[in-house]
Amino acid sequence: MDRNQQLFEQAKTIIPGGVNSPVRAFGSVGGIPRFIKKAQGAYVWDENESRYIDYVGSWGPAIVGHAHPEVVEAVSHAAENGLSFGAPTENEIRIAEAIRHIMPSMEQIRLVSSGTEATMSAIRLARGFTKRDNIIKFEGCYHGHSDSLLVKAGSGLLTFGHPSSAGVPEDFSRHTLVLPYNDIEALEQTFASKGDSIACVIVEPIAGNMNMIPATSEFVQAMRRLTDQYGSVLIYDEVMTGFRVALGGAQSIHGIKPDLTTIGKIIGGGMPVAAFGGRADIMSCVSPLGPVYQAGTLSGNPVCVAAGLKTLEIIQRPDFYNTLSARTLELSKGLAGIAEEANIPFTSRSIGGMFGFYFTAELPTCFSDMQRCNQVLFKEFFHAMLARGVAFAPSAYESCFVSAAHNSEIIADTLGLAAESMTEIARTV
Ligand SMILES: *Cc1c(COP(=O)(O)O)cnc(C)c1O
Repeated sequence: MDRNQQLFEQAKTIIPGGVNSPVRAFGSVGGIPRFIKKAQGAYVWDENESRYIDYVGSWGPAIVGHAHPEVVEAVSHAAENGLSFGAPTENEIRIAEAIRHIMPSMEQIRLVSSGTEATMSAIRLARGFTKRDNIIKFEGCYHGHSDSLLVKAGSGLLTFGHPSSAGVPEDFSRHTLVLPYNDIEALEQTFASKGDSIACVIVEPIAGNMNMIPATSEFVQAMRRLTDQYGSVLIYDEVMTGFRVALGGAQSIHGIKPDLTTIGKIIGGGMPVAAFGGRADIMSCVSPLGPVYQAGTLSGNPVCVAAGLKTLEIIQRPDFYNTLSARTLELSKGLAGIAEEANIPFTSRSIGGMFGFYFTAELPTCFSDMQRCNQVLFKEFFHAMLARGVAFAPSAYESCFVSAAHNSEIIADTLGLAAESMTEIARTV
């Protein structure tokens, strides 16, 4: 047994499934998860001392590359002054200002510690503000694991083949309406029949938890129009897409203003920070100003905020997104070209520093399209690449991420290894 295997066996004796978040367990691809020892730039190393080019990026946060020296320095400096105070600090104002500068729709901002908390709080706020109970979410979108959002949720659950989670009372999910993504007619019909009872629509504006599927601009317009018409709150869940698909997130690409936005992942630069924010009149309903309760012992933690502030500074430097987008496109197009040469049905797309690839001939536009992708080929490609030192997300229902540390040489290395891998798996087609 190698060390990854040994540690996985040990872990399973004390941690359910050996992991602290399910998709890490390799459940949908099979095999032994790699236990990571360290990470630097575009690379991670496992406990066997094997090096991998990393396209997981801690599931999104690592946009400036792992262990960026300036971020590490900011964290060490903050830690020297104390790890947590449970009292307000100046840097909480500075990071809120930085966020609002980048995403002007977030007029008022509340920091939390995870994306789950951000979406859960935003939903509670939308319900408190509108005094309505029902919410709309879309099939294949994942918004964290709070009860009312675990209704036909995305990647982690799909991977394990459960339509929803045990332990969520029917009474909770009764208020969650799940509609197909990019389906304007279904949205119009639902508003026509139940519009006055709908507190909010929550959406991944570029879905990243059923692999990567962007909302069409017609769908975006319909969500904005219908929520306006019926007085519902439009929540953009940009926990993944914020600072990822573009500096200003999906909303800067769509050119619309959501009422509330949730962000996470990148704003902590690898530390646990997330936030929700938006229209000042809605945000003023949050306690202590208003009646919607929301709190957190470690919210706005000074060490985490230091990592986030530095990360936000780095990503605003000239050409950061031009370079990131160009490299991501190079990789995504390169993979498609290689698959074509190997005669494997395959498509891919990228937006900013995020990309998706699919073992199917046509680009998927909704969750049921994704379910028609060839899972067997995905698994084989995943393992062929992993064996050659390239780590993609261990599920066909995840997006992948490029960081600023993935230079042209690393992208070229990846494509070289992909060519070998595609040739290998082509034999099984
Ligand atoms: C990751 C993610 C979440 C949940 O964030 P956690 O920090 O894992 O709780 C919510 N929404 C989206 C779109 C995400 O990608």
